[in-house]
Amino acid sequence: MTKRLQVSGFTAAVSILLLTCSTYAVLRDSDAPVLIFTPDTGRASPSLVMTLTVADATSPIQRILIQARLGSHLIPLLDKTYRDGEKSRRETFSLRNSGLKDGPIELEVSATDASLGNFGRGNTSLRKIPLVIDSVPPRILVKTSPPNVRRGGSGCVLYSLSKEIVQTGVLVGDIFFPAFRQANGYYLCFFAFPYNLDRREFAPRLTAVDPAGNSRTEPLPVVRLPRDFKLDTISLSPNFLEKKDAEFSALVPGGMSALDRFLQVNGRIRRENTRDLLEIGRNTAPDILWSSPFLRLPKSASKAGFADFRTYLWNGEKVDEQVHLGLDLASVAQAPVPAANAGRVVFAGYLGIYGNMVILDHGLGLQSLYSHLSSYSVGVGQAVGKGEIIGATGATGMAGGDHLHFGILLSGLEVSPLEWLDAHWIRDNIADRVKAAGGSLSAGVLPESGAGGSR
Ligand SMILES: [Zn+2]
Repeated sequence: MTKRLQVSGFTAAVSILLLTCSTYAVLRDSDAPVLIFTPDTGRASPSLVMTLTVADATSPIQRILIQARLGSHLIPLLDKTYRDGEKSRRETFSLRNSGLKDGPIELEVSATDASLGNFGRGNTSLRKIPLVIDSVPPRILVKTSPPNVRRGGSGCVLYSLSKEIVQTGVLVGDIFFPAFRQANGYYLCFFAFPYNLDRREFAPRLTAVDPAGNSRTEPLPVVRLPRDFKLDTISLSPNFLEKKDAEFSALVPGGMSALDRFLQVNGRIRRENTRDLLEIGRNTAPDILWSSPFLRLPKSASKAGFADFRTYLWNGEKVDEQVHLGLDLASVAQAPVPAANAGRVVFAGYLGIYGNMVILDHGLGLQSLYSHLSSYSVGVGQAVGKGEIIGATGATGMAGGDHLHFGILLSGLEVSPLEWLDAHWIRDNIADRVKAAGGSLSAGVLPESGAGGSR
């Protein structure tokens, strides 16, 4: 039907008038195409790739014309005609070859459909978009001395930017740690020295992108400190595998040996969970919700450390290798678990190797994780105070005996929890930077006596 309508505008228009009312209603297209222009920030660098999406409810798109107007001059940026009958189109363009200098212009964006409207000329949508051409990337001015960052640990940087931005933070490889604008206008960012990078590989970069699409990425000077991790060997017992098999069959169903199911959970499910944590890590408050230091599970003994490299043996043979990314703390069975700091619940549920788990967000990408719980008493969205009981220790997930697996995450990436349990480390590495941003870590709920402290 659409092809026939394209044949001859005027003849077809006349013939439409002769058709019955109901047919007329079907053929009529008085609606012009809908234009969607992105990114619609009002600013564009010459290299910014802009996208125009055009959709028409009834008729094919026949032409898209994009021009830049500077005074009385019109500079064509894109002019395309189509004959393939598509009712929606997506075109990208930029100002790269326009010869235009920085300053205000107007984009004139139009799309015409192939309907019989306007005596066969089709319906045209025209949008005039005021735009400032801006080719100057943001300048980054670091306000703090190079942070000392230990392998597997955390760093903090404070900086200012010369202009408004849409995204900024620290890049470590392809991991992005967002920075957050503080009350005084400075940007504060917590970032990690991932445990699996060595000192030569750890090269954090500061990055900022402005609304025009100009970006600047530059090395962030840091003092890289080494840290060795423990090697650990775990001999799997038939008893442990049998005990866990029913729970794990919910994660990896199907007929297989208890050992094979364990290996699937310890490998594939563990990797899935790591991705889930990165997703949860994006759900964070733009403000600091915590006060120094973080609380350790009271009266607990440390059973395993952060980034212990574990070799798993079965009948004396190596069957698996994994890295333990938290602190295992054992107390009495079903010991009450206090929130290590004030925050908001962003996860409360069962997740793979972690079993029953609660994750608290403390703002600026900093989160704490409590897993293998026998029970939990908080729900997502709930605000909790420092020291408030959120659940009880247990052995759900990849746990043989009752303990708390305690983790600290930066934007969903696990870092050494010991630093955050250490008031001295926070004072030396974080507190001054937060203070320089106009904040304070001394406000908030005071730790319960005997529950705090570092080791
Ligand atoms: Zn653990």
